Amino acid sequence: MEIFTKKKIISDLQNLGLKKGDIIHVKVSMRSVGKLENGANTLLEALLETIGEEGTLVADSFVNVYPLPLNSLQKLDIADDNTPSNAGVFVNEMIKHPKMFRSKHPIQKFVAIGNFAEKICAQHLPNSGGYDLLKNIINLNSKNLNIGENIIGVGTTHLAIEYLNFKRKQLNLGRLYRTEKGDIELAKVNWNGGCSNGFVNFLPYYENNKAIISKGKLGRTQAILTDMKKTLEIEIQELKNNPSLFFCSNPACYSCKMTWEHSEKNKIKFGFNWLRKNFKNLSFKRILSIFKIVK
Ligand SMILES: [Zn+2]
Repeated sequence: MEIFTKKKIISDLQNLGLKKGDIIHVKVSMRSVGKLENGANTLLEALLETIGEEGTLVADSFVNVYPLPLNSLQKLDIADDNTPSNAGVFVNEMIKHPKMFRSKHPIQKFVAIGNFAEKICAQHLPNSGGYDLLKNIINLNSKNLNIGENIIGVGTTHLAIEYLNFKRKQLNLGRLYRTEKGDIELAKVNWNGGCSNGFVNFLPYYENNKAIISKGKLGRTQAILTDMKKTLEIEIQELKNNPSLFFCSNPACYSCKMTWEHSEKNKIKFGFNWLRKNFKNLSFKRILSIFKIVK
């Protein structure tokens, strides 16, 4: 199996068009990149070297939330700038970096390294919207680098959903965090979030409207570099035409099928699909019997 060096990854990033001074919002599937000489650290160092000290690297590094009220064990989990993220190996490598900053939001804690890192993180406060930090970097002409076979997200779709004010059933979730003063407070989820498996639906629209700056190889996988200002404009436009465009194709996805004001919300259909997905060997007749429709 090929082991990719930092030099090779830098060359791939430069071929994609990344350059000194870029503000890059990165989403990575480390599993698809292949074997790197020093794991996630190789990719991180390659990215930082490519954009230079004048550049800024940003990633989602959100932390766990729990159903409220918290149990006694969950009350011991208090978020601060060093709390690990549930967003994978790469962002946790960023969190360990000596020059990283973490946004001051208690849950949607972005991580950033570089020129604008301190400033943008300091502006993302406990009372900011969950994705507000991205609005700030879009104003600085940021680009999204999506690394992996599939579109994991170009960073702007949640912003478009918030902009159009789509409503969703509020989930009663939250966690404790340490404030700047050192007090411990409860933060609740008050933004929409939602399933990102449907974000791939926007890809043809990005292509047709020239939001894709480049596509190319990175390690053994594919990467796409997009203009975040353009992807946001396209998403807002297309969601105005079709508000369901961000829903995924999984008939058993609770988030897409049941939780939005404009979700299908067919409980019986969803129930069948959910059972079929989760109990593959279950016959149709058995499902009907569970619902007491037939004996
Ligand atoms: Zn979904």
